[in-house]
Amino acid sequence: MTSQGMIHEAMCNGVRIAVTQGDITLQDTDAIVNAANSALRPGAGVDGAIQRAAGSELLREREEARRRLGGMLPTGEAVSTGPGQLQIKRIIHTAGPVWDGGGSGEREALTSSYRECLRVAKAEGLKSIAFPSVSTGIYGYPVEAAAQVAVEAVGAELEADPGSLREVRFVLFDERTLGVFLAALNDICGET
Ligand code: ADP
Repeated sequence: MTSQGMIHEAMCNGVRIAVTQGDITLQDTDAIVNAANSALRPGAGVDGAIQRAAGSELLREREEARRRLGGMLPTGEAVSTGPGQLQIKRIIHTAGPVWDGGGSGEREALTSSYRECLRVAKAEGLKSIAFPSVSTGIYGYPVEAAAQVAVEAVGAELEADPGSLREVRFVLFDERTLGVFLAALNDICGET
């Protein structure tokens, strides 16, 4: 049996938190999050998939965002661009930390990535946002630890202020990552 397509959810301060298996480029949320790099240049994994789906307009958007930021997107921060040819409102790019054993501020940086994406979404009045599992691919962050950080960071930000948000969706590519996020979801906002 596969969990593909099934959605699991919890509520947090009036916001629906959904966890599902799938492809981030196929989401119908107002915004999707890109697991970007600090250079904002097209990469592999999530970034490659989003770039392919969004098309060349996104290359121009990346350039513009990089200029606006003075050359780079610092780790743990987020910036939004237009969606290229994707039928959504915005792409929110964040540079998650590269795992280096856990003693180099990785946890704080990953927390910051999730928080800053939500802040950008709220500042732009967006109602829904879909996250991939930031940093757990090429950047090597262990999935169990990353899932805990992700749900805690989202829960804390929504409890503080949900703003315009009505749904936060975690979109996990593979079944193992899905299972780990589902377990972590039980901790969000103290709900089971
Ligand atoms: P990072 O460089 O931040 O580690 P990656 O893009 O390498 O980011 O991977 C982050 C996670 O996203 C991994 O679990 C990877 O399997 C998953 N992933 C890859 N492609 C997609 C996609 N199209 N949609 C959703 N998740 C994806």
